[in-house]
Formats: sequence, structure tokens, C-alpha cells
Amino acid sequence: MSKLMIFQKILPGCEEGSPEAWRAFLGFYGPMATEILGVYTQWDADERLALWRECIGELSANDCAELKKLPHQSEREFLVAMRAHLQDRAAPRLEARKDAAEPPAPASESLTTLLSGLPVIHQEVVFLTLAGYSQKTVENILRTTPSVAGEGLSRLRSAYAGALERPEDRCLWPSAWIGICGEARAGAGKDCATLRQLVRVLDGQASWYDKSPAEDHRTRCLHCLELWTSLLEVVAWDRTRQPWPDEKVEPLLALIPIRKEKAKPSLFARMLGR
Ligand SMILES: [Zn+2]
Repeated sequence: MSKLMIFQKILPGCEEGSPEAWRAFLGFYGPMATEILGVYTQWDADERLALWRECIGELSANDCAELKKLPHQSEREFLVAMRAHLQDRAAPRLEARKDAAEPPAPASESLTTLLSGLPVIHQEVVFLTLAGYSQKTVENILRTTPSVAGEGLSRLRSAYAGALERPEDRCLWPSAWIGICGEARAGAGKDCATLRQLVRVLDGQASWYDKSPAEDHRTRCLHCLELWTSLLEVVAWDRTRQPWPDEKVEPLLALIPIRKEKAKPSLFARMLGR
């Protein structure tokens, strides 16, 4: 059923109020949304679900006006936008005083200094580690080996030893880190890549000639590093996609203004030609 529904049909179907499309939306994207919130907020499962319920309500209200603003062309672009949307929605509810005090949270400037001069893969390792990912998950997101990931961490060992060697995926400084991500997203410059260009690079559709300057630029640009790593994050979530079962989806469906499913005429009615 919903497992067969492809992305290109899900958002338009939701916007038409199709219950089947909403079932697919809720089943596919609920697990990712709550997982994203788990990494970036430190909230428990109930708090994460509460925010996701609010988001669903907002996305589906007013003829899906908010949903229509999200990218429709490719699922990965949609998921990157959804991740940013969830971070933005969570941000006002996070308190700086609840961030870990030791090691102190990075800020955009100190992060830029920390990253400067590192090769691109090591920058990705550092960024995702400070975002809250364990080394195992960083290796999985970047599809790299423990030795490469380990080398990338060497610059973190002195100041951020506490951010390393964690088994779970949880940011130490939800308020500060979501702030850094928000600043990075707002800081696009004229040389920055668009999300669509990054998707092309990821798919191997960009030539070396296109790819190399973009990669070089990324080593000096927090906006592009945030966008690129968020794309790799959603691709990694997608690889392990486990849709929610119907019993988890149905209560959420009740929040959405959907088109009434047409009742099938009974066999008796059909025999009578009604
Ligand atoms: Zn840039």
C-alpha cells in the first residue's frame, strides 16, 4: 500500500487531501522527523512527537499552504528542507542554559577557526561530530572508514574530548548548535552552491570541472558545509528507512483535514446497478 507510493505522488496527493498520500507521508517521514529531533534537541520521545504533531497540523492547514512551500522536485531536497524546518521550529523552545557547559559550545566564529585548513572530508567529520553524531554514525553518513573518521577527529581531541567517543547520536549543545545551523543557512553568498547542484554532485552528475571549485569553496564556507552535510544526513536516514506501522500513523491522520474516502458500493447495490 503506502510502501509503494513514490515521492512524486505523495506531496501532490497530500495537497489534494488524499488519505492514502497522507498515510505514506506520515509513515515515511515521521520516523525521520522524530530521529532528527532526537539528535538535535535531547527531547524525549513524547516531546518529539508533540512537535511533529504540531508540524503536521501546520503543514496541512489552509489547503497545505506550508507544505506547498517545501521542495517537490526530489525527495532528498524535500528532506533537507524538512530537517531545516524542524530545527527552526525547535529553536525557540531550546534554552542555552541546558546546553552542556563542559566543553563549552562552539560558535560560528570558533567553528570556522577550528575547521580552517582541514581537508574537506575531515571538515565533514568534525561538523557532524559536533552536531552530535557518534563516530559510528559519522562513518555511516560519510561512508568512510574508521581510520579516515579518526584522523578527522584529531583536531577535536584537545578542546572537545567530551564530544567524542559517545555511543548515542545526541548533540551536547542543542541550543547553540541549532543556532549555528540557522546562521549558516542564512549566510548564503554569491559563490555558494544550491541544494540542487549539491544533489547533482552527490549523484555523480557534475564533472570534475564543476565539482572541484564547489568542493574547494566548501572548505571555506559554513553555509555550504551545513547544506552538504545535511544532504548526506538525509541520504543516510533514507538508507535505513523503516516506515511507521499503521497503528502509529492512524492517530496522526486524525489531525489532518482529508478528503472523505468514497465508500465502495455493496455487492448488492452493484448487482442492482446502483
Ligand atoms: Zn558557500
